[in-house]
Amino acid sequence: MNKIKKLPPHEAQKIAAGEVVERPANVLKEILENAIDAQSSKIIIHLKDGGKKLIRVVDNGCGMSPEDAKLCFEQHATSKISHVEELSSINTFGFRGEALASIAAVSKITLITKEADAEQGTKITIAAGTSIADEIVHANTGTDITIEDLFYNLPARKKFLKTDETEWHQIQQLFFAFCLAYTQIDFRLYHQEKLLYSCPAAQNIAQRASQLFDQKLSQHIVPIYCAHKKIEISGLISNHQYERYDRNMIYIFINQRWVKDSALVHALIKGYKQVLPPSRYPAGCLLITIDPLEVDINIHPRKEEIQFLHPRLVQQTITTAVTQALEQHLSHQLQKTITFKPTTETNNLASSVYKPTTGSHASFKPFNFDAFFKQAPQDFRDKPIIKEQAAPTQPQEQTIETPMINHVIDEMVQEEYRLIGQYNNTYMLLEQKDGLFMIDQHAAHERILYEELIAQHGNMATVQLLFPQIVELSAEDLAMVMHHKDLFSHYGIELEQFGNSTLKVRATPMQLKHVAINEVIKQAITYIHEYKNLNESSFDQTLQKRLYADMACKAAVKAGDTLSEQQMSELIKKLNKSANRFSCPHGRPTNWLLHLDEIKKKFKRDYRQ
Ligand code: ADP
Ligand code: MG
Repeated sequence: MNKIKKLPPHEAQKIAAGEVVERPANVLKEILENAIDAQSSKIIIHLKDGGKKLIRVVDNGCGMSPEDAKLCFEQHATSKISHVEELSSINTFGFRGEALASIAAVSKITLITKEADAEQGTKITIAAGTSIADEIVHANTGTDITIEDLFYNLPARKKFLKTDETEWHQIQQLFFAFCLAYTQIDFRLYHQEKLLYSCPAAQNIAQRASQLFDQKLSQHIVPIYCAHKKIEISGLISNHQYERYDRNMIYIFINQRWVKDSALVHALIKGYKQVLPPSRYPAGCLLITIDPLEVDINIHPRKEEIQFLHPRLVQQTITTAVTQALEQHLSHQLQKTITFKPTTETNNLASSVYKPTTGSHASFKPFNFDAFFKQAPQDFRDKPIIKEQAAPTQPQEQTIETPMINHVIDEMVQEEYRLIGQYNNTYMLLEQKDGLFMIDQHAAHERILYEELIAQHGNMATVQLLFPQIVELSAEDLAMVMHHKDLFSHYGIELEQFGNSTLKVRATPMQLKHVAINEVIKQAITYIHEYKNLNESSFDQTLQKRLYADMACKAAVKAGDTLSEQQMSELIKKLNKSANRFSCPHGRPTNWLLHLDEIKKKFKRDYRQ
């Protein structure tokens, strides 16, 4: 007995529809693409119940003739290509001619359309893929299409639609994507008859972003631009002060087409390594332009995924572009802040920030700040610490050199930013156009030292100790350390055995000359035990990361240390030049901008001046 029978066309079409249409957002995507392909400059969207009940899109594009209006719901009906060979040069969204046919198979559609030079428009009503009426009507130029009751004739699929809210979120994300990619189009979006977004044609992506994004994100947006090997990336990304728990605000467009390519999203997130804590994500909108011959958009029924000829190159370019944009943004903020206001106080800068420290610091710790910045060749430890720290009580001794003042005033002519001083003996406060900029002195210094140490690994600038430090160890640990003597010397620590259980430290890295080196050595021993089973390269990498982070932490200026204005400026300058300057080696942030808008809001000044 024959078992195979051919499905009637309308049943086959319902099944095929599933490839294109799974949920309201897919329908809206197809309809918006058609409106854009039709050269519309204004698109109005109306939704009900997250698009499940109704999706209506009104455009002012080229419209359709009465004949085309009837044809457009047929399968493989397209005005965009006539031969498959044309696919490689296609620059419209659509080309398969199956979207309207698929949507019509699973919903109720009303189409009103008119071409610019036509007197009258055409109205077509379709249910379950079959035309039930067509008439001549009065209409504006363009197309007005209404899709109602998605999957009304396919209960099995309807069941899989999510709550109105979930479907709405999908649609909102899609709407944002179209608005970001087509800034020159005027978009409106109504949901349950309420106007939720009104986005008149924008001059640029930043203006468009301000029409869409909430205030929090708008405050933390930085531009991104990069051109490398025929790949051009532009757009906006969030800065290091913005984070979210999901990736929903990451948009990537390839030649103006929104793609959901997880490798590309990952490449963007990778650019925030050292910037955002784990499981936190940025926001971003990357518009990537690439030779169409380098990509294949035809691999996915909804054209959301894309295949590249050189995927790694695209990914690496994204990551680098993101890192550079973030670095530039922070450099810009830091550069602005190392200048001082040329007011009368300038003459007395030092005294304006120094606070007397004598007596008030019970737990006063010496720090090697001056020595570090001057890279002094000899050991200062024999100097009385109190003398190094006494400067703050005698401001006149710490005047800023004349060339620096001149330089500072020169810059001031252009920019009105100023170092306010030190807060809580921990944070450097800087006045900026955008707000109050804070830098954690310890985290910042830690990052600077860490990057310096890492860069010098194997070739460390060391300082010979006038009085070698003695470290007591067990016989086993001593043998182990001596076995790794060369390893220690790569870290700038020169050792010598001194009896059965004692080590003599002859030299340490320059940056560590005020640090109790025996603690560093003991820590190194623990790490060596801990990582001994790693292969050679992971061992080296892990040990460097951990040990240099410890060293940097020990050598860095601490919270509670009073800094002079000059020391603060030097620190800011150094931080500005340092790699990975957003965070300390342990991942804490080095800086924070309290936005002027936030301050104004607190003082209820946001709607007045
Ligand atoms: P495709 O976009 O792949 O060609 P569709 O099924 O989406 O296929 O649309 C079929 C045809 O209907 C399009 O090629 C186009 O000629 C016409 N069309 C659809 N929507 C519009 C619109 N908003 N304005 C003008 N023409 C449209
Ligand atoms: Mg289409």
